Amino acid sequence: QMADSLFIINNFARDYFVKTLFETDEGQNVGLSYFEERGFSEEIVRKFQLGYALNLREAFVREAQHKGYNLEYLQKTGLVTVRNDQPIDNYRGRVIFPIHNQSGKVLGFGARILVKSDRAPKYINSPENDIYVKSKVLYGTYFARHAIDKLDECLLVEGYTDVISLHQAGIENVVASSGTSLTTDQLRLIKKYTNNLTILYDGDNAGVKAALRGLDMAIEEGLNVKLALIPDNEDPDSYVRKIGAEGFRQFIADNKQDFVLFKLHVSMKEAGNDTTRKSQLVNEIAETIARIDKVEDFTRQQDYIRQCSQLLKIDEERLVDLVNKFIR
Ligand code: ATP
Ligand code: MN
Ligand code: MN
Ligand code: MN
Repeated sequence: QMADSLFIINNFARDYFVKTLFETDEGQNVGLSYFEERGFSEEIVRKFQLGYALNLREAFVREAQHKGYNLEYLQKTGLVTVRNDQPIDNYRGRVIFPIHNQSGKVLGFGARILVKSDRAPKYINSPENDIYVKSKVLYGTYFARHAIDKLDECLLVEGYTDVISLHQAGIENVVASSGTSLTTDQLRLIKKYTNNLTILYDGDNAGVKAALRGLDMAIEEGLNVKLALIPDNEDPDSYVRKIGAEGFRQFIADNKQDFVLFKLHVSMKEAGNDTTRKSQLVNEIAETIARIDKVEDFTRQQDYIRQCSQLLKIDEERLVDLVNKFIR
C-alpha cells in the first residue's frame, strides 16, 4: 500500500519534471540548454527520462496536491519538505535524474544543481523509504540489463552522467554506484546478469580504495573483478567525450587488468622492503584467493596461486598451503 503510493507519486513526479523540461520556457532555456551544453542528445535525455525542476518554492507541490496526492507520502518521497508549516519543493532549479529499478519503476531521484555553489550540494538524492533502499540499487540497471546479459560483462562507474554518456556512445552495459562503496546486495544484482564486473574509476579515487576493501566480498559472490583506471581528472563521461566511443572502447581493452593482481601490486609497492608487512600481505592474498569457490572455479583459483606466487617470489606450494588454511 505504502510502496504503491510512493511509486505512483514518483511516476507522477517523473512525468511532471520531463514535461517541465520540454514544455516550459525555464525548462527549455535552463534545463535543456544545460543538457545540450553537456553534449546530451535529445534522444538520450528522453530515454533516461531526465527532467527539470523549476526554480520556484512550490511549483511541484501545488500541482501534486491539486492532483490529490497526500502530503505525508509526498514528504516520504523526499520531493516535498514542510518548513514552518508550509510545504515546499525540495528540488528547485535543478536537473532531474530518475532512478529506476530493474523493471523501470521510479524509486527516487538525483537532482543536480546547474552552477557550482559553496552553499548547496551538487546533487540532492531521494531519502531512503519503503521503495528506495540505496544499498540495493545501481543506477542504470534498467537500461543496461540486456546489454550486460548479452556482452556477459558489467561496467561500473561512479555517476549518473557517466552511465548516460557511455550509453550515448553506444556502450550500454554500464551501471553506477552513485558515489558509494559497493554492497553485497548490489553485487548480487550484478550477478543476476553476469559474473564479470569491470570497475571504471579514476586511480586516485576514494572509490578504488573502497572497491579494494570490497574485493573479497565480490570474490565471495563469485564475481570476476577487473579494473580499468580512468586517467587523472577525468571520469568516463568527460573521457568518452574527449577520446570518442571507439577510443574509449580501445582504452578499456588496453587497460583492463585483474583486480586481485592489481591489489597485490598496490600492496607490494606499499610494503616495500618491510618484511613484516610483506608476510602480512602474503596472508591477505591467500585469504582472498581462498574465497574463490574451489568447486565452481578451480582453475581460476589455481591461476591466481600461480600468478601471485610468481609476483611475490614465493613457492607455489607455500601459497597453496596458506590458501588451504583459509578454506573453511
Ligand atoms: P557531474 O558530471 O554532473 O559533475 P558526476 O557524476 O561526475 O556528476 P561526481 O562528483 O563524480 O559527479 O560524483 C559521483 C556520483 O556521486 C554522482 O553521480 C552522485 O550520484 C553522487 N554524488 C556526488 N555528489 C553528491 C552529493 N553532494 N550528494 C549526494 N550524492 C552525490
Ligand atoms: Mn571523481
Ligand atoms: Mn562528471
Ligand atoms: Mn565524476
